[in-house]
Amino acid sequence: HSIVPSDELPAVHTPPGREVAVELVGVHKWYGEFHVLKDINLKVKRGERIVICGPSGSGKSTMIRCINRLEEHQQGSIVVDGVELTNDLKRIDEIRREVGMCFQHFNLFPHLTILENCTLAPIWVRKMPKKDAEELAMHFLKKVKIPEQAGKFPGQLSGGQQQRVAIARALCMKPKIMLFDEPTSALDPEMVKEVLETMVSLAEEGMTMLCVTHEMGFARQVANRVIFMDAGQIIESNEPNAFFSNPQHERTKLFLSQIL
Ligand code: ADP
Ligand code: MG
Repeated sequence: HSIVPSDELPAVHTPPGREVAVELVGVHKWYGEFHVLKDINLKVKRGERIVICGPSGSGKSTMIRCINRLEEHQQGSIVVDGVELTNDLKRIDEIRREVGMCFQHFNLFPHLTILENCTLAPIWVRKMPKKDAEELAMHFLKKVKIPEQAGKFPGQLSGGQQQRVAIARALCMKPKIMLFDEPTSALDPEMVKEVLETMVSLAEEGMTMLCVTHEMGFARQVANRVIFMDAGQIIESNEPNAFFSNPQHERTKLFLSQIL
């Protein structure tokens, strides 16, 4: 897919003392007996955009979901925005407020309008007055270019539009970090571009992003780093040009030969 050209991505912005947005150190996770994450080490600086790729079942979703504690890790440490993820529920809530997430299946509330989907969390979690929440929601619906859909229900929108609502909804919480888990892989090809364009514009505004995606055009265009996972491990991590032109490991080469 060709996506909007944007040669002017912001430099990574790192205020002193707070330069690390997410850090995983020696993270292991098991599902029962199954060792799904094996010694994951990853440091994401504020404003960095990381693309994560790898074969199905390699642990990409699990890793992303550990970062906002939708899944629990058993060993190692995960620090998000200066807060270590432990079993302290209050802290988990704090983190979830700062971390926006978009899934493959948009997970909108089907019985709520687009506007209500976007205002729900700001009203109930951020305690924002309804009117302000609606204003904010309209701002982000304009940003993702579907303000005219505000009064409709998710089922009345195309997949691409629903995914853009999901992004707008996440942005309404003013997240410091955005996690994407294959946001375009459930979409018809003609809708992929509009969602990628939305993600590119977020990148241009300096959002810290971790994106699981196989859209390698997007990776080349916006990623500071591309990470390749296989069998629960980070096998390779490099800046996009080097990653694509000179992959170091056989498994990375094989994967790239299959998807490019
Ligand atoms: P990916 O996103 O890279 O495709 P996942 O993180 O979804 O990989 O899954 C990694 C592995 O963990 C797969 O083998 C998957 O079957 C397994 N898995 C994922 N979720 C669960 C779960 N809730 N319980 C048990 N096994 C799981
Ligand atoms: Mg997955």
